[in-house]
Amino acid sequence: MANIEFRNVTKKYGKSIAIKQLNLEVEDGEFMVLVGPSGCGKSTLLRMIAGLEEIDEGEVFIGGQLVNHLPPKDRDIAIVFQNYALYPHMTVYENLAFGLKIRGVEKAIIKEKVNNVAKTLEIEDLLMRKPKDMSGGQRQRVAIGRAIVRDPKVFLFDEPLSNLDAKLRTQMRLEIAALHKKLKTTIVYVTHDQVEAMTLGDRIAVMHNGEISQLGSPQELYNNPANLFVAGFIGSPAMNFIKGKIKIVNDALHFISHNEFLIIPLPSTHNVNPEATIGIRPEHITLYNSEVKGKNTHVGKIVHIERMGFESFVFIESGDLKRTVRCVESSEYKEGMMVWYEILKEKVHVFA
Ligand code: ADP
Repeated sequence: MANIEFRNVTKKYGKSIAIKQLNLEVEDGEFMVLVGPSGCGKSTLLRMIAGLEEIDEGEVFIGGQLVNHLPPKDRDIAIVFQNYALYPHMTVYENLAFGLKIRGVEKAIIKEKVNNVAKTLEIEDLLMRKPKDMSGGQRQRVAIGRAIVRDPKVFLFDEPLSNLDAKLRTQMRLEIAALHKKLKTTIVYVTHDQVEAMTLGDRIAVMHNGEISQLGSPQELYNNPANLFVAGFIGSPAMNFIKGKIKIVNDALHFISHNEFLIIPLPSTHNVNPEATIGIRPEHITLYNSEVKGKNTHVGKIVHIERMGFESFVFIESGDLKRTVRCVESSEYKEGMMVWYEILKEKVHVFA
């Protein structure tokens, strides 16, 4: 087991900066997810841990050891890739055994380790098959097995579930979570999928343009997004944003929207700002099919409804404004209907 530390790490490709002066500590045994849109630098960061990318500035430590110039084979890490990277001409047994064989491990010990891993991943029946004779899910399980069998200090996962269909992705997600609970090895896991990030990570580093935009537990990121980028990235459907100003009304700070006749009292910790944005999650807007006296509702038209079974996402437009509302009881609502929505003021996030 080992912790991983990035200290002021920068990586450039020519003139473009892929990673900017980044600091991050992954704790021993932690499941750390790096998430962000394509091109934000998450694979580069993972590859630097593996020793597959040179580090231009700063330092990377694994288990307290400076590894900037340590070759990949001496780092005691194992990577699981999106495309499985299995040897096509070898059986599953041979694929699992290969890493141990080239390290000169005794045959009997290899057999024991491979059988144990095959049992853990429930692939005992596949040991004599070749990769071409297996499904995507089975191949990915073998790829994970090949990483586990070496008993490394650190596991690195690079978008391991992207090639699987939705149902299998959910199943493998559960299996990877269970595996981490059992093995307790440090994991760094790269994904662009915020659901994967939220469901797997002890902590999540949300990356944007080569920097960490916010680092925190899934709940921290969801409940207290530090900025507009994280607020928009974490949560599905995405948070609604409302533009307005923060000004003093009757000696107290208020947010006043530009378009929606919405006035929200704010604590004095905020500042006056002529261009502020607040966010409200879809589950924090209440829908009504008529105007309700005494409530600060806004009228809009339903342009689309996504019915998910247990809940529905109702998409509302009013002029240029687009709002998404999550509701459990939606059978009375239809596309084209006018509805009234109420923004729950105590639930807004202020990004001034
Ligand atoms: P992500 O994994 O988040 O999609 P990457 O880490 O692959 O992002 O890339 C980060 C940035 O570095 C991107 O702008 C990408 O175009 C650039 N980049 C990555 N690898 C190379 C490379 N080998 N040569 C040039 N630019 C690269």
